[in-house]
Order: sequence, then C-alpha cells, then structure tokens
Amino acid sequence: NAQKRTGTSYSIYEDNSTKQLTEEMDILNQLAYGLQHEEFEVYLQPKINFQTIEVEGFEALSRWNSSKLGFISPVKYIPIAEQTGKIKAIDLLNFKQILIWLENRMNENKKILPIALNISPDHFYDPDFLENIRNIFYQYNVPPHYIKLEVTESIELVDFKKAKEILNQLRLMGIECSIDDFGIGFSSLSYLPQLPFSEIKIDRSFVSSMNEPGMYAIVQTIIQLAKNIEMRPIAEGIETEEQLAMLQQLGCPAGQGYYFYKPMSISEAEQLLDTQKTADEK
Ligand code: C2E
Ligand code: MG
Ligand code: MG
Ligand code: MG
Repeated sequence: NAQKRTGTSYSIYEDNSTKQLTEEMDILNQLAYGLQHEEFEVYLQPKINFQTIEVEGFEALSRWNSSKLGFISPVKYIPIAEQTGKIKAIDLLNFKQILIWLENRMNENKKILPIALNISPDHFYDPDFLENIRNIFYQYNVPPHYIKLEVTESIELVDFKKAKEILNQLRLMGIECSIDDFGIGFSSLSYLPQLPFSEIKIDRSFVSSMNEPGMYAIVQTIIQLAKNIEMRPIAEGIETEEQLAMLQQLGCPAGQGYYFYKPMSISEAEQLLDTQKTADEK
C-alpha cells in the first residue's frame, strides 16, 4: 500500500512539473506579443497613512491579461521576463501608463498622489537605466517627485558602490527609492545606513505572523532600525485590524494591504481619488 502511495505521488509530481514547464514555455513565447500589443496594465494599491487613515500614495503593480493565455500572475511572468531581458520593457510600459495618467490628471486640475514603481535589479543595474528614466520624464510633463522606485533588498549585494551612485543620481533627479521586501533577503546591515533610501518596506511574511512573539519582535526591531537611520518604515500585506493596531502601537507611520485595499485598476483609483476630500476642502 505504501509503495502504491509513493507511486501515485511520484506521478503527480511528474505531471505538475511537466505542466509547469509547459506554462513557462507558453509565457516565454507570449511575452513579446503581449508587450507589442500592450496587454500589460498597471494596477494601483493604495498606501495608507496610519495617523489620518487616508491614502497617501499608491504602489504600481503589473497585471497581464494575455489574449492567448488569459490572466497570469506577476509572480509567474516577472521572473521569466527578468531571465529573458523583457523586464525593462515591462517596467517602462508601467512608467509610461503612470506618467500619462498623472499628466492627464494634472492637466484637468485633479488631485494626484505619489506612485511607487517596482524596478527589477537587472534593470536597476542596466547601463541605460538612468538614461531611460531621464528620457521618459522628457516625454511627460510630470514632476519627478511624484514617482518613487522600489528595489529589493538584495540589490546592494550585487554592487554596493554602483547602487549608491545610482540612488544618489535618482535623488538628484528628485526620485526617492524604497527597499522592498526588507528582511527576507540577505543584505548586509552595515551597508544600509550608507545607502540613500527613504523608505524600508517590511516584508509581508513578518506582518502576517505578527501574532507570534518572535515575529512581533522582528517587526518592532525593523521599525526602530528604520527610524534610527532616518528611513521611513512601511508595512506590507496588512490583512487584519489586529495587525494594524499592533503596527500603530509600534509607531509604524504607514502601510498597505488587503485590509485597506487590494490593487485596483487606474479607473478605480481615479474614483477613489475623486471621492476623497483634498486637504483644503476640509
Ligand atoms: P511586491 O513589490 O512586494 O508587491 C506586493 C505584492 O503583495 C503584490 O503582489 C500585492 O498584490 C501583494 N499584496 C498586497 N497586499 C497584500 C495582502 O494584504 N495580502 C497578500 N496576500 N498579498 C498582498 P503582486 O501584484 O502579485 O506582485 C508580486 C511581485 O511581483 C511584487 O512584489 C514585485 O516584486 C513583482 N512585480 C509586480 N509588478 C511589477 C513590475 O511592474 N515590475 C517589476 N519589476 N516587478 C513587479
Ligand atoms: Mg513593491
Ligand atoms: Mg514588497
Ligand atoms: Mg513582497
């Protein structure tokens, strides 16, 4: 009987890995087509200020509804896009969609808030990266301080000096950067205070297990660390009122998560902004 069970699970494993491989091949084959036909659409997840419980900005997240494959999660296609050099085009398409939207709203005298875009390490270290960013700002009339960039923690491991230089250049342009998914990478803490990041995003895995004393202590420590080196801690993946209460108690100033809002389309974000009172209307 035991042998039979092993046999069964082995064949399930085989089926799954074959299925996964086919899926990866399909994604690989459709990426170029999807980019050419602009099948990618940027979604926005509101970031909430914990003092006012108001939206203070958004994170831009890529979404792909492929005409051939249907809806595919970024967790699946982003790594494949990274491996095949297509990620730059995805990042720049997001940038374009965001800047067009912000420019339109500015022209209509409508409220806008800062938007954070995710940048892959490959793109961040690309020799053309800063030039790409400069070029895109020439094309749209949006002040750079409305755009922030999120890069993952492992970025500094690749080339600390280069990372510092790029971050300084971005800062000179008026673009602030956040460290994404902080705590799950293998960064060296000694580099951290020397890098001009403005925000530290506490990874969702810590926030979601804050009810465990050890995890609570980690979140507490990251918040304190961020403040001590003059960076702003931001909590990711808040799903419950209890998590929010704990974060507020620890002095965390802002966060995002399904408890507040899931990522939404640009038109939904538009409705959200238009129904919110502006500061001078209050
Ligand atoms: P990330 O930058 O850490 O983004 C946060 C992820 O957590 C998003 O997943 C978001 O939808 C999800 N999330 C937010 N709040 C909650 C919550 O309360 N509970 C749970 N369970 N999840 C929550 P998403 O959109 O699937 O993106 C996954 C990752 O893919 C991102 O992680 C980012 O690393 C990457 N990514 C997404 N869009 C882009 C992009 O345009 N460019 C690049 N380079 N990477 C991207
Ligand atoms: Mg992010
Ligand atoms: Mg993140
Ligand atoms: Mg994350």
